[in-house]
Amino acid sequence: MFDAFPPLHILLTKGPFVFAFDFGRYLVAAAVVAAIVWGLRRTTLRTRKIQAREATMADKRREFAQSIQTVCVYTLVSAFIIWGVDAGVLQRFQGSYGWAGDLALLAALIVAHDTYFYWVHRAMHHPRLFKTFHRAHHRSITPTPWAAYSFAIPEAFVMIAFVPIWLVFVATPGWVMLSWILFQIVRNAMGHAGFELHPRWWLSTPVTRWINTTTHHDLHHNGGFNKNYGLYFTWWDKIMGTEHPRYAARFAEVVAGDRKLAARPARTVTA
Ligand SMILES: [Zn+2]
Ligand SMILES: [Zn+2]
Repeated sequence: MFDAFPPLHILLTKGPFVFAFDFGRYLVAAAVVAAIVWGLRRTTLRTRKIQAREATMADKRREFAQSIQTVCVYTLVSAFIIWGVDAGVLQRFQGSYGWAGDLALLAALIVAHDTYFYWVHRAMHHPRLFKTFHRAHHRSITPTPWAAYSFAIPEAFVMIAFVPIWLVFVATPGWVMLSWILFQIVRNAMGHAGFELHPRWWLSTPVTRWINTTTHHDLHHNGGFNKNYGLYFTWWDKIMGTEHPRYAARFAEVVAGDRKLAARPARTVTA
């Protein structure tokens, strides 16, 4: 009876699997990054906590609830994407370009997504769009890995829209799509970790300095609101002059381990 509207049929038959897969990858990525941070904060690396403020339980609950909401939007849109592939509007590709070709395509996909993210993210900071699209994400002043998918419904649609746009133009092997999807959620969880996970030499080499750190996105959430829009790479922020002026200095402070946690009260000795 639902054959008259294929996306609904796809949603009812494949939706639960799509939801389980997408929720699962969010849950595993966020939980693993949160566990790593929890463990490292009990070592000498604890000074890598970027902000003195601690995220509250209410912050984490909100981030988790909004992320489930995002998974629901992704599941809904996925039904239309599968429909588009079945109908031949979006490209279906079950072959391979060879391992070198596939890896080059994966790199191109990551670079294209980074570009898409930079510009839609920057657009969503426009005063006319911010409240509807992006304010929900920025309610996290001190983000945690659970904020990886913490979007308002309109922002979730903007985020997933990259997939059908890409598939209109590029026939992409399944494993390349899957690798990008996993890479994306891991980097997203790391970006919101609130704890610097990259080596201290990261900004000193000509290659790694172009790859985002947790400090980079943390600054965007806390004070550097109209700076550091980038997702995986720093080049768009550098080219467009939107990199936070204190990014490198802040990163150096965080990894140097010589910072006093301002919020920690001085210990008083009583007789
Ligand atoms: Zn933002
Ligand atoms: Zn964020």
